[in-house]
Amino acid sequence: MPRTAIGVDIGGTRLRAARVAEDGAILALAKTASSPDPQTVLERIESLIGQVDDPSVEGIGIGVPGRVDFERRIVLSGGYVDLSAVPLAQAIERRFGRPVLIDNDCAMALVAEQACGAVKRARDVVMLTVGTGIGGAILEGGRMLRSRGTAGQLGHLVVVPDGRRCACGRSGCVETESSGTALGRHILEAGLSPHTTVADLFEAERNGDAIAAHVLQAWAAPLRAAIDSLQAVLDPELVVLGGGLGEAAVSALARLAEIPSWYPTRVLAAQLGDDAGVVGAALAALPHNAPKRLVMVNGVPASGKSSVAQGLSALTGWPVFSLDAVKNPFLEEIEGVDRPFNRKLGRASMVAMFALLRDAPAGSSVIMDAWFGFQPREFVLPLLAASGVTAIHEIWCEAAPETVGARYRARAASRLPGHPGPDYAGELEALARRAEPFRAGPLLTVSTESIVDLHAVKAWLDGTLELASRPPRCDAA
Ligand SMILES: [Zn+2]
Repeated sequence: MPRTAIGVDIGGTRLRAARVAEDGAILALAKTASSPDPQTVLERIESLIGQVDDPSVEGIGIGVPGRVDFERRIVLSGGYVDLSAVPLAQAIERRFGRPVLIDNDCAMALVAEQACGAVKRARDVVMLTVGTGIGGAILEGGRMLRSRGTAGQLGHLVVVPDGRRCACGRSGCVETESSGTALGRHILEAGLSPHTTVADLFEAERNGDAIAAHVLQAWAAPLRAAIDSLQAVLDPELVVLGGGLGEAAVSALARLAEIPSWYPTRVLAAQLGDDAGVVGAALAALPHNAPKRLVMVNGVPASGKSSVAQGLSALTGWPVFSLDAVKNPFLEEIEGVDRPFNRKLGRASMVAMFALLRDAPAGSSVIMDAWFGFQPREFVLPLLAASGVTAIHEIWCEAAPETVGARYRARAASRLPGHPGPDYAGELEALARRAEPFRAGPLLTVSTESIVDLHAVKAWLDGTLELASRPPRCDAA
């Protein structure tokens, strides 16, 4: 059965729920009107989920307008729909018996745009959704930036000191100047009909209407200021504008005078439209969407792989599972270990490392430090398959056979019993001549003859994550 998840998008005017496949395709969709009453919203969401639910559903994701504590699954505040008083995640989880994840609605839209929309393959992205209010979300190195919990409330960047009061308590937030609500106010203040649409404004402006041009300018300029600040702070590859007025905002920004700066921006319109919310919420709720990443640091004994693994761990904060760290306590405890028994311990240690990896939660990144070639490929592959990893990279540590032999001789005296003695150095040199990488994913060869540039290794890992995993495809969204 194909794996699916349900994505729910809670908007100010509409509530939508969809059953979505792993590749982002919408398989079933239900929608109804929203309400300012949180209890009514909860009941309607339950009804929508019931309409699209089926046995293939593995999780439920809900995009909520307002501030969400993602880790604790709590809605902290909201505008038109304020769900902070209802135990949203817990209620849905009890009712449907599937794990429920909640996040800010803009973060959900960004998940979808990154999986299969406007910012595919980009790793550092800022998104703003321009609708009734202005939502925000930030991807940093491919991960949602959360800081203490609610980072990314970009609608509340202050762009007009002493400007209009905002719902957040401050004044002059970009939401008070460049949201859809603010556009309506700019239109009224210019003396235009309250029925004027943004399309009317563009048409009038094209025909030389100065008032329409002024309204568009007054609406877009504060947004430009917010985007310029974001560019300076976060240095994203792209800024993507979504929500009902995202495309219009991109057009209005393009009409502002270009000012050369240290901080050029690339602003794009979102591509998935109304579907982004439900698709992103569903993809976020599918367990595979939190990648479990394995970095195999491979090489023959004395190839310098432990230093590379430790250095990379210090740089990334990812733990190292080292074959020697698992095996050595047994060598210390068990007396009379000979070479065959040492090999047996090595095999068991490999199984133990993969068992730990299997039990690590989704979202983990683990560095494995081992000579993977000491066992047949047929022994390692099933362990790898059962470990639940969704992305595999390999760093192949290489040094001249003579270097490997010299390093081995130098450390042979201090090795634990069971390891072959210094006379093994010759055998090891021969092994180093014929050894091959494991090749289960993207491969980077590093020479340990000189200092390894670990920052470059980290950049390679970031750049090949998509290649190392099975990327979602969005055909129907
Ligand atoms: Zn505000």
